[in-house]
Amino acid sequence: MPLPWLVAPLLGVMVLGAVAMAVVLRRIAAALGLAPGLWPPGLWPWPGRLLDQARRLRRVGSEQAAALARLVQAGAIIIERLPDPLIVLDAARTVRQANDAARAAFGEDIAAVLRHPVLRAAIERAYAGRTTETATFSLPVPIERNIRARVVHLLQELPDGGIVIVVLGDRSREQAVERMRADFVANASHELRTPLASLIGFIETLQGPAADDAEAQRRFLAIMAEQAQRMNRLIDDLLSLSRIEVVEHQPPEGAVDLAMLVRGIAESFELRLEARHMRLTLDLAALPRRLPGDADQLAQVIQNLLDNAVKYGREGGLVSVTARAESRAGRAGVALIFEDDGLGIPRADLPRLTERFYRVDRGRSRAAGGTGLGLAIVKHVLNRHRGALTIASEEGKFSRFTVWLPTPPGPES
Ligand code: ADP
Repeated sequence: MPLPWLVAPLLGVMVLGAVAMAVVLRRIAAALGLAPGLWPPGLWPWPGRLLDQARRLRRVGSEQAAALARLVQAGAIIIERLPDPLIVLDAARTVRQANDAARAAFGEDIAAVLRHPVLRAAIERAYAGRTTETATFSLPVPIERNIRARVVHLLQELPDGGIVIVVLGDRSREQAVERMRADFVANASHELRTPLASLIGFIETLQGPAADDAEAQRRFLAIMAEQAQRMNRLIDDLLSLSRIEVVEHQPPEGAVDLAMLVRGIAESFELRLEARHMRLTLDLAALPRRLPGDADQLAQVIQNLLDNAVKYGREGGLVSVTARAESRAGRAGVALIFEDDGLGIPRADLPRLTERFYRVDRGRSRAAGGTGLGLAIVKHVLNRHRGALTIASEEGKFSRFTVWLPTPPGPES
């Protein structure tokens, strides 16, 4: 049974406590900047709002965390997919990530690459100076490769701890191309210098010892004319090759009646065929009337292959040009086959025949007026036409050069 005299003081204490709590809560609300103006009128709506704010803060926090995670993932994907080999190192020089290109290029050897003294020195310089460094070095195994590395200090750590990236570029291919260019210039100069030296020699002889020798003059002038023509052919072929290379990546415009082209060029060979007692047969019925292509360039292909068949074919032998429809790798096309029953080509030489200045027998090619560029020109023209050249031969029996060209679908072909 509560004592009635206690009720009033208790009520008073409760009211005072409620007021004090309200004041404290209002202070907290003001400190947190939570809409103090809206409170009071009621005491209880405010803690409700506080809860809402807390929930909102939590939601914003988790959204930011998800965005950050997405960003980290995007960064990792970009690094993974970059075409250049790329390695990410952390502050302890440990590999954090090596992308697909790096794994493909170096596989298990990534650690060995990073241990190369030249690259290691560049990495240490980048760490020490927070700079970008470069290094060039070669890896001897499994095949010698020339590597150019860029080491970049990122200044700010990546979310996974990465701080230095190493980008590796394989310069071997680039260097091979540079070497090929240098070889080409050397070869071309050599090819031109030989007839030029001979011309200079004959001119000196004609000016000196043979000045009054009419018979020697006649002989020498004939040789000089031949040497000058050789230089002319060489320059023509060099120019053709460089003109073809310039447009090699542009598909040819225009259309060609290949059968008519072959017949026209074959006629121009009549005298040479006769001189070597050779016979030429044409079977061109399978050729479409109109084939997309560059007439001048395809004429050069036919000219060069017929020229070789006559040059290297058997005296008194047979040369044939045969056409047949042929699909390759699901593409419709036509094959034009040039065959002779002459010297043939050793198997080991077959893969190199289309290289510039490559000849099986240098002396024989020169004697026949060859420049060593004919098949290189054929190859580049066919590349431009998305076609192909295949060579088959048996030494002493036959040589067969097959020109394949794609035909477009439709009634035209
Ligand atoms: P070349 O001007 O020397 O004939 P090509 O590039 O046309 O240059 O040919 C390269 C080499 O391929 C020739 O030197 C020759 O050794 C060989 N060759 C080409 N065609 C034939 C063929 N029909 N029979 C035998 N050898 C051939």
